[in-house]
Amino acid sequence: MRQKRAKIYRKLLHKYVLHFGFREPYQVLIDSAFAQSLSKQKIDEPLKRVADVIQAKAKLMVTQCSMVALYKQEKEGEYQKRAVQMAKTWERRMCNHKDAIDECDCLASVIGPTNKHRYVLASDQPRLRRKLRVGVPGVPLIHCNQTGVLVMEPMSDLTARKMLQVEQAKLALAHKEGSANAAAAAAAAAAALVSSGDSPLADDTPGARSVNTPSLGAIAQPAQAQAKKRKGPKQPNPLSMRKPKQKAAPQQPKSQAEVVGVKRKRESADGPESSAKDSAAFGKSKRRKRGKGDAQGAQTE
Ligand SMILES: [Zn+2]
Repeated sequence: MRQKRAKIYRKLLHKYVLHFGFREPYQVLIDSAFAQSLSKQKIDEPLKRVADVIQAKAKLMVTQCSMVALYKQEKEGEYQKRAVQMAKTWERRMCNHKDAIDECDCLASVIGPTNKHRYVLASDQPRLRRKLRVGVPGVPLIHCNQTGVLVMEPMSDLTARKMLQVEQAKLALAHKEGSANAAAAAAAAAAALVSSGDSPLADDTPGARSVNTPSLGAIAQPAQAQAKKRKGPKQPNPLSMRKPKQKAAPQQPKSQAEVVGVKRKRESADGPESSAKDSAAFGKSKRRKRGKGDAQGAQTE
C-alpha cells in the first residue's frame, strides 16, 4: 500500500516537474494548521516526512503571517507551543505584510495567480486548499490526515487542464520544429541524392579502370555491377532493333528507291568499288527509279 502510494506521488510530482518546471529542492510552504498537526502527531522530523512524501529534497518555509498565526495560539497548549518552536527552524518566507493579514490570503498572495515560484503547499486548512485547487494551476497540495499520515492530493482539474494546454503547446512547438527539421532533412536528402547521383559515376569509373586492370579480384565486383546493368532493357534492345530493320526493309516494299538502294549496296559489297562511287551511283539510281532500270544501266551512264 505504501509502495503503491509512493509510486502515485512520484508520478504526480513528475508531472509537475515536466509541465510546471518544478525542481529540487522543492519549496514547501507550511501553514500554521499544518505545523500544529505535525506537532500534534508528534512528528519530530517534519523535513524527512515531507521529503518522503514528495520523494525528493525539500525546503520547508513559513510566511511571516503564518508565524503570527502560530504565535497567537502559542499559549493555548503544549502542541501549539511546539509548533512555534518547530516553525522557527524553517526558512522564513518574507511576504511583506507589515501588519499580518489573514493567513489564507497571505499564502494565496505569496503563491500568486500562477505559482511562478513553484511552491508546494502543505496546509491543513481545507478552505485554502480548495481555493488553490479552483484558482491556481500547478500547486501540489499536501495535508496531514487524522492518523498523522501526510497525504498528497490528486491533481486538481484546473491543473490537469493547464497541463494539457502546456502539453499541446509543446507539441505544437515540436511540430513546428519538426516541420522545420523535416524541411532541413528534405534539403539534406536532396543534397544526398545529388551526391549519390555523382557517387555511382565515381564508382563506375574505378570499376571501368579495374576492368582494364588485369587483377581479377578487382574486376569481380564491377563486372557483376555491369552484368546487373546489362540486365536492364537498354542493352538487348539495340541488338533486337537492328535485325528487324535489316529483315523488315526487304520484306516491306516501302519505296522503289529503297529497293534500288539495297540492290546497289549489295552490288557494292560484291564489287570492290569506293564509297564515293557508291553514293554517286545511289544518287543516279534514285533518278532512274522511275524507269525501273537495273543498276548496271545506272553505272554505264
Ligand atoms: Zn503575509
